[in-house]
Amino acid sequence: MKESLFGKTLSELQELVIELGLPKFTAKQITDWLYKKQISSIDEMTNLSKKARHLLNERFEFGLIEYTKVQASIDGTKKYLFPTIQNKFIETAMIPELERKTVCVSSQVGCKMGCLFCFTAKQGFQGQLSAGEIVNQIKSIDEVEEVSNIVYMGMGEPFDNLEEVLKSIEILTSEWGFAMSPRRITVSTIGIIPGMLTFLEKSQAHLAVSLHTPFHEERQKLMPVQVAYPVEEVIKEIKSWDFGRQRRISFEYILFEGLNDTIEHVKELARLLNGLKCRINLIRFHPVPGTPLKSPNEINIQKFKDELNKKGILTTVRASRGEDIYAACGLLSTKELVK
Ligand code: SF4
Repeated sequence: MKESLFGKTLSELQELVIELGLPKFTAKQITDWLYKKQISSIDEMTNLSKKARHLLNERFEFGLIEYTKVQASIDGTKKYLFPTIQNKFIETAMIPELERKTVCVSSQVGCKMGCLFCFTAKQGFQGQLSAGEIVNQIKSIDEVEEVSNIVYMGMGEPFDNLEEVLKSIEILTSEWGFAMSPRRITVSTIGIIPGMLTFLEKSQAHLAVSLHTPFHEERQKLMPVQVAYPVEEVIKEIKSWDFGRQRRISFEYILFEGLNDTIEHVKELARLLNGLKCRINLIRFHPVPGTPLKSPNEINIQKFKDELNKKGILTTVRASRGEDIYAACGLLSTKELVK
């Protein structure tokens, strides 16, 4: 199988064209074709010399991967299934809201983090995605021209695949790439501190941290990562970081009935987040087969939100989208699929 051009950065392409004996400016022409135009083969790169196209064709392929299945929810959310280079499958969700179209991308095939409430976790870890495979989830969906926001909240823990995730953000935000504002991109982590710090330093995209409970013992049961990277430490690092005026930090909080939805949780969250300019997104839990966890009812969700707001923490309830097609938060899984 030939190597893909799609997913390479401008500097990687510059090295490559020099190696092939082509003029350096060819690299910029290639990035235009890869990231700004809607073509899918090297032969369509018509401003490249015949020789250049021939040399590229010998060693490379364009590298776009088409989706093999798409499902549409009654609420307009779509879930795409993409094959990966390593013969696995990943899922991508596209969520339309008023003027926005948000794409929720996967960063790994499955996940090794083992969060109790997550369907992807049940699949285990099946491999990393390359930067090209991450960006392909935007480039190869039907709405490619209309995408306004990107969230790294699909399958996998982005900071467990840090290098490729950072590279994908470089492609999405560079002038030579998709030229998107990093303020339209949010990367969600369960709190892998070293990866998070590198991300904060090297990118300008927003950060979301999955919190789910402020109490150590409880979080340890829900999210094994708490042992290595306690959330208290994660928040300490975040508090010492200068986010500037435009960069956002938010916390994701899935509500589980009788477990993390009490007034004690509100108080502890207020203590933990004291002094930090942030927002909490409350997420309704979508039952995952094989877990005893349940979502609180609507009244209790609103009550929890109001209590947090009273404590001065800006809190919203995330609308549940795509539940009927298993595209909602925590429901992505491709375990059973083999190419
Ligand atoms: S919630 Fe995220 S980090 Fe945890 S197992 Fe699921 S995909 Fe992995």
